[in-house]
Amino acid sequence: MGHNHDVDAEVDVDVVVVGAGFAGLYRLHKMREIGITARAFEQGGGVGGTWYWNRYPGARCDVESIDYTYSFSEELQREWRWTERYPAQPEILRYLNFVADKFDLRRDIQLETRVESASFDDVTATWTITTDRGEVVRCRFCVMATGCLSAPKRPGLDEAAVFDGPTYHTGLWPHEDVDFTGMRVAIIGTGSSAIQSIPQIAKQAAHLTVFQRTPNFSIPARNGPIDRDRERWSDEHFAEFRSLARQSGFGSSNVFNPQSAFAVTAEEREAEFERRWQTGGIAFLGSYMDLLFNEEANELAAEFVRQKIRETVHDPEVAESLAPRNHPLGSKRLCIDIDYFETYNRPNVTLVDLTKTPIVEFTAQGIRTSAGDHDLDAIVFATGFDAMTGALLSIDIRGRDGLSLRDEWIDGPRTYLGLMVSGFPNLFTITGPGSPSVLSNMVISIEQHVDWLAALFTHMRDNELVCIEATDAAQDAWTAHVNEIANLTLFPCANSWYVGANIPGKPRIFMPYVAGVAVYRQRCDDVAANDYEGFELTRA
Ligand code: NAP
Repeated sequence: MGHNHDVDAEVDVDVVVVGAGFAGLYRLHKMREIGITARAFEQGGGVGGTWYWNRYPGARCDVESIDYTYSFSEELQREWRWTERYPAQPEILRYLNFVADKFDLRRDIQLETRVESASFDDVTATWTITTDRGEVVRCRFCVMATGCLSAPKRPGLDEAAVFDGPTYHTGLWPHEDVDFTGMRVAIIGTGSSAIQSIPQIAKQAAHLTVFQRTPNFSIPARNGPIDRDRERWSDEHFAEFRSLARQSGFGSSNVFNPQSAFAVTAEEREAEFERRWQTGGIAFLGSYMDLLFNEEANELAAEFVRQKIRETVHDPEVAESLAPRNHPLGSKRLCIDIDYFETYNRPNVTLVDLTKTPIVEFTAQGIRTSAGDHDLDAIVFATGFDAMTGALLSIDIRGRDGLSLRDEWIDGPRTYLGLMVSGFPNLFTITGPGSPSVLSNMVISIEQHVDWLAALFTHMRDNELVCIEATDAAQDAWTAHVNEIANLTLFPCANSWYVGANIPGKPRIFMPYVAGVAVYRQRCDDVAANDYEGFELTRA
């Protein structure tokens, strides 16, 4: 570090942004605002990222519409009207297209282009990006807005090739309508994507067989038309509404109870769980402050949900299979559903508990488990993603001296603030591992990272600085801190994608930063105010 750089080296553009989802779009807008040139490459045929790819039946956000929006423009908030409490995928995609048009972002986005490599040249302090179209682009800064849940995981892909019928992955759903009418359909997985699509597919298919390895906790969404009074309040109190979310734990305007679950009587506790169950949504996790810290407190909420499952599902054996027991509630992403458990009362839905009867093989006709054959017409994989690092590591990223990010992260991701990696100057990871990211309302976290970077770029330009890199020491300390905080909670107890447990061989590291968006924002602001403590900035 500390080299002199040849700043006169020509660049094609100041910043290359990889991805045109929520993060990439705002990034482009913000760069224009501060007078820095930027160009985005996007693999998809349209903008939208996650919401471009995840078109499976029932796809919907589990953060409420009112919170799941950009906050950088009050005018945008007033112009866009959501229809439902939780936004469905087509509506979010329309919103993102509306944003791209309103802020004239398309002229800087190249679609259907996959970035294949990015390599840093220390002499000129520039990055060279190559794409699958053979382009070579030189830039000063490289911003990875590649998403956290964008590299689909498809176990059994090779094995399933013997199956005669069509196969689908929820995260790579076709753009044309898929019609399951009259078909015998299987779905593998019972995470958020499956829990949303199962009730929808069941309504259409002749028969749906659900292959479940691990049951999940799920809370009813209680979806419906958007609350126009609340919407009006958020318009009239724009600054207060947005500040509430920024100063919260998870980045939404939901109210969390500061009480311990043991500070009240059993009757009061049941009443609070019931109230939140009836209200619906992720705020159930905020019933008591210790649900994510104390196993006994958590078990009270977990048992409440199991009891709801028993009351809902008519067949007691199916209900028991659906009741999660091997992880604390919320330690895997809490699912939010519309009629999920009720769907198992339909005569055309069967649950296969893979812990009792595992899959032996795929056949031309369907799936063979240890208990026998399931003849099928279509198979849906709802098997999730190589989360947080998968999309980044699918690009060959080389830092100083040819250092490979894949090698650097062989034992798990290490970052400073989830924003930069030591050895990779001028490369930024929006909502990267080590930041609140997937444990928060992503839009809030994306905006915070983009705003922080805009201030950094302005600072660098004003001070004629050309290169920034996280120091090893700052990265070590931050990574230790992220783990230390995670270990105070119940999050690491589950074999979740938060710890990479869903990918065989992936190192087990708790990736998101759990201290909450307010604490994290303050930390990032303090670092900037303290002359970018933990970063080394160099001149030409
Ligand atoms: P996921 O939560 O990782 O669930 C994948 C499911 O597939 C799990 O049930 C998993 O079982 C199962 N599975 C994986 N490999 C398997 C195998 N080889 N054999 C049998 N079963 C297998 O993935 P997801 O449902 O796509 O959700 C990922 C994340 O995306 C969510 O947690 C959420 O953050 C986000 N998401 C959000 C929404 C929303 O906003 N409502 C909707 C969809 C997704 P095990 O648990 O045993 O591994």
